[in-house]
Formats: sequence, structure tokens, C-alpha cells
Amino acid sequence: MCGVAGVFGVQHAEAQVAEILFAIQHRGQESCGIATRNPRGNITSYKAMGLVKNVLVEEVLARNAGDVSIGHVRYPTAGSSDIANSQPHAIDLAEGPHMAICSNGDIINYGEMRGWLEREAGFTFKSDNDAELIGRLIAYHHVVQREPIEDAIRKTQQELKGAFATLVILRDRMFAFRDPHGIRPLVMGHLDFQGDGAPPSEGTVFASECCGFGIIGARRLREVAPGEILCLSRGQPVTTVSVVPKRKRHCVFELIYFSRPDSEAFGERVYDVREKIGACLAAKDADIPGGDDLVVMPVPDSSNFVALGYAAAKGARFSMGLLRNHYVGRTFIKPSQKSRDEGVRQKFNPLPGFFPGKRVVLVDDSIVRGTSLRKIVRMVKTAGAREVHVRIGSPRVIGSCYYGIDTPTRNELIANRMSVAETADYLTADSLRYMEIPDFDRVLASRDDFCFACFDLDYIYPPEQFGLKTNVPGGRE
Ligand code: AMP
Repeated sequence: MCGVAGVFGVQHAEAQVAEILFAIQHRGQESCGIATRNPRGNITSYKAMGLVKNVLVEEVLARNAGDVSIGHVRYPTAGSSDIANSQPHAIDLAEGPHMAICSNGDIINYGEMRGWLEREAGFTFKSDNDAELIGRLIAYHHVVQREPIEDAIRKTQQELKGAFATLVILRDRMFAFRDPHGIRPLVMGHLDFQGDGAPPSEGTVFASECCGFGIIGARRLREVAPGEILCLSRGQPVTTVSVVPKRKRHCVFELIYFSRPDSEAFGERVYDVREKIGACLAAKDADIPGGDDLVVMPVPDSSNFVALGYAAAKGARFSMGLLRNHYVGRTFIKPSQKSRDEGVRQKFNPLPGFFPGKRVVLVDDSIVRGTSLRKIVRMVKTAGAREVHVRIGSPRVIGSCYYGIDTPTRNELIANRMSVAETADYLTADSLRYMEIPDFDRVLASRDDFCFACFDLDYIYPPEQFGLKTNVPGGRE
């Protein structure tokens, strides 16, 4: 998973991009970078492993100053976690360093398209990263085939299969486009424009999520539509080059877990969706009697709003019985089981004296391997809870994601190894309930517009057809 940001046509666009990237840091913490068009018309870029505040420091921004800028935070799904695979990629056109690109999402016909470009056009790749492929494909159509840039992007958009929410600086213009299914989010805002319709290009901002817009004083305008290509050019309004959509297949996991609650994605307010999920879970729990000894608590922070929604619907007490240490990074992506276990212990701590005699409804967003939750249930029981009822804000994860969420191999997914009852036993929970896919009819305006492939294996593109290995994270290695 990753996040992108872009700002067009304002002084120190690079500083604004860095602010947005900081607000969407949750989308990727492995590496980050920025690419800016400088006043001489060239593109400079900088990327490094690490967090936005440590990488995009003042002197880096000063060296990459300009009025058109894009940036990226990365959390690797396909390709290794190293600097070559970090983004943005600066790509030299025939006449010099005039193109930069960053993207969120995984391309599933990556191997085929890259092989073709290497053979047909003699292109050499500097990374194994999807965004470089998108950039080189655009360059192939535009520079080698001499097609107008709009046509080059349109062809690229149609040839690629998978998820991409992409920002490109090309000479003095910026382009923003999304895959035809709109799998990953991409939103547009503006720093000054107050009206309706097409805003001026100058002052336009883009990001994977709008939660950073307020910080830079930008107003959210709308999402880039699935299959849309937008062009920004000095003195011109933002122009839609084309929109060629297919059936919408937005990633539902963005709303369940990935996006920040203060973002709006796919026409839904994230916190709202999570509260409705909580209410839906509560409605299934008529068999859990209320009472003073009942507390509803989240595994912080991703399930906070689900637990709030549950507690409100049930008329039960909401409590933060577990404290989270915010300086512990993601335990989910630690390489070994041992380090994941240790991470969980460092990350969560029960409130002293809180649990004895309590019945706890413990709410989490998802169970993947089951590692974290088993530790947490034990922790809560050891702290004195009388009963622990686990409620999960998503259906059972049974399949890998090929479109940009880092799901482990299928045989690591607990739902493929154990029934619900066995999972409850393994977690030492007194009961366990999940959201079911049809429940999302009560949560989303249109469930059919969403991809649930990691829950129902109904993949947009059948993985076997693209030679994707079903037991490999990201499917490509
Ligand atoms: P696990 O211990 O493997 O069951 O991890 C499940 C927890 O990790 C969930 O409660 C989520 O908060 C978090 N999580 C789920 N999917 C991801 C992901 N793709 N990347 C990072 N964290 C995740």
C-alpha cells in the first residue's frame, strides 16, 4: 500500500506535498520521496528509506523547490523494500530530465508489459516497481511512437491491468489518472478555488486521501473518476482528457482498515462507514446481555470507530481498556512470528485495575494471521476480564490481494486453516463473530461498487490467468 500527493502551480509546491505526505504517512512507512519541476524547467527528485519527517527535511525540500511537485510514501507490496523501488521515479525523455511519476496500486500484467517494453523498445528498467513501468509505457508511446501525450497516457491506461492512482509531471504539465475500476482512491482539491466546475490548474492538489488538505488550507473538490485522465496546464482550467470507466471495484479494505477516519473515499466518509459496521455487529449480538459489567473496547486505533458504533447501538459502555504505544511501528509487517509477538506486547498495554469482573466485547478491524489478536485476548484475560467476545469489522480474509494491500500468503491466513469455532478457540475468545459480505448492504451506498476479493475470491482479474502465484504476497516474486 502506498500514498501519493501532488500540487500544481504554486510557489513551494514541494513543501505542500511534504505536508500532505505527512498526513498520509499511515499509507506507507518504508520509504518516501518527492519530485519537483524547478524554475529552470528540469525535474529534481529525492527519495530515501524512512519516514516523511526524517527524509523530507528542510534542506532536501530546498534542493527540490519548485511550483509543480509530486510525492509518495511507500509500503511495499510487490518488489523489495529498497531505494530503487521507492518513488517518485524520474524518467529521462529524449530531451532531458522532464518526467516524474508516482503511483499507488499493483499492476498485475507487470511481467508481460515490462518484457514487451524491454524486447520491443530496448528499454532498461532501474527498478521492479509498477510506477516505473507506467512511466516507461507512457514514454514509449509518447517519445518512441511520437503520439501526443494525451493519447500516450490513454493507451497506457488501457493496456495496464490492475490498480493505479497515478500522478505524472511531464514537462510543464501535470496529469492525474486512475485505473478504470477505480480500485485505489485519488482525490482532487484546491488551495483557493471556491466555485463549482473546473478549477484553475494553479493551486490544484491531489492526494490518495483528503485528510491532509485542511492542513495546507486546501478544499476537497472531488475524486478523480475511475478511468479518468486529468491534465493541468498553466493558465488553463483542470481539463478532463477522457473518462473510460469499467465496473467500479473500489477496495473495501480502504474503508475497513486502511484509510484514515477523517478521510472521505469512494463517496463514503470513512468514520461513518466504521460506525455503521459497529452498529451492524451489535445488531447480531442480541444474545449478549447488556449490563454495568459489559464494556466495548477497540484494539486501538484502527477499530476505534467500529467500537464506538457498536457501543452506541448496544447502549453499552465504550472504553479504551488497552493503551497503545504510538512509537511502535507496524507489527503486521515484521518478518518473523517471534518479532510480531514481541511487537504486540510492546504496542498494547491493559489499563491497571480496569478488567477484573468485566465482560468485554473486543472489537478489531480484521483477522489476518491471528497473531495480534491471540496475544491481545490473552492480555485482557490475564488482566482479569471474565469474558472476551471478539467482534471483527470485516469478513474472514481468505485470499491474497493483488491490487495493493499486503496480505500474506493464503496458507498463512487463519481463515483458510481454521473454522470460526476453531479460530475462537485458538484466540481463547468466549465467542467470535465477523461481518458478513451481505452486511455491507447496510453500510455502503452500493456494495456492488466494491472489490471484496480478499473475502470472496471474486477477483477483478483471475490471478491464474496472469500467472500470479496465489501463495505469494503481492503475487509477483
Ligand atoms: P494478524 O495478527 O496477522 O491477524 O493482523 C491483523 C491486524 O493487522 C489487523 O487487526 C489490522 O489492524 C492489521 N492489518 C490487517 N491487514 C493489514 C495490512 N495489509 N497491512 C498492515 N496491517 C494490516
